[in-house]
Amino acid sequence: MSAGAEGAEMSAECRVAQRPGYTELHRACRRTEDVPLPHGGGILLVRRCACAHHSYDGGRDGGR
Ligand SMILES: [Zn+2]
Ligand SMILES: [Zn+2]
Repeated sequence: MSAGAEGAEMSAECRVAQRPGYTELHRACRRTEDVPLPHGGGILLVRRCACAHHSYDGGRDGGR
């Protein structure tokens, strides 16, 4: 088995949500965007969840 592209960070919620029957846990994930550390000089406090579920680009569904 190869490790594959498993370097991306995914929240615990979304990891579970990968399983059939638990997909609604994607909603529980709040890490939809990067959270920079205040005065951290570009350091990220929280990295955006790598789940494809959040990879909306443009957001045609709702949003601003
Ligand atoms: Zn997700
Ligand atoms: Zn997520």
